[in-house]
Amino acid sequence: MKIRYRVDAEDRMVEVGGEWETFAAANGVPELTGERLRGRALTSFVSGTEMQSLTAMLLKRARAAGAVEVPFRCDAPGERRFLSMSLRRDADDGVAIETTLLRREPRPPVALWDDRLPRRDDLLVVCSWCKRTRLDVRWVEVEEAVEALGLFDAPSLPQVSHGICPPCRARFFA
Ligand SMILES: [Zn+2]
Repeated sequence: MKIRYRVDAEDRMVEVGGEWETFAAANGVPELTGERLRGRALTSFVSGTEMQSLTAMLLKRARAAGAVEVPFRCDAPGERRFLSMSLRRDADDGVAIETTLLRREPRPPVALWDDRLPRRDDLLVVCSWCKRTRLDVRWVEVEEAVEALGLFDAPSLPQVSHGICPPCRARFFA
């Protein structure tokens, strides 16, 4: 699966294509049709101020370097999804962005990624790019964090907050 979109010089979505609508429906947001996205700031779809500034930084790098390629994970509770995002400088200082699903690995569902389950007050920080979870000073795969924190049979789960782990920061945003 591929989704493609383009932002203009002000980082507003101007074209949405590929299999965007299939992707939006699969992610529970069928109302986000290409028509409704046009003209809106790309960063308004990114949660958290840190992620918004990283997205802005990637766009800036693509404009300076011509092209940037970033692997990332976009997991579902029962599936690891490995994707790649390529950003290419385009006419009029726009950037063409293409996201490709490289491979999927089924796994036993991770309740932590199920937004419908009840949450308690504490926060668990997850890297937006590689989906590793912060466990004290280490960043580990979510399965390891679930086991270490005893979340398999917990009555409620921590809230998930998005950030970026030091290796991803060094690799993509240094
Ligand atoms: Zn990471």
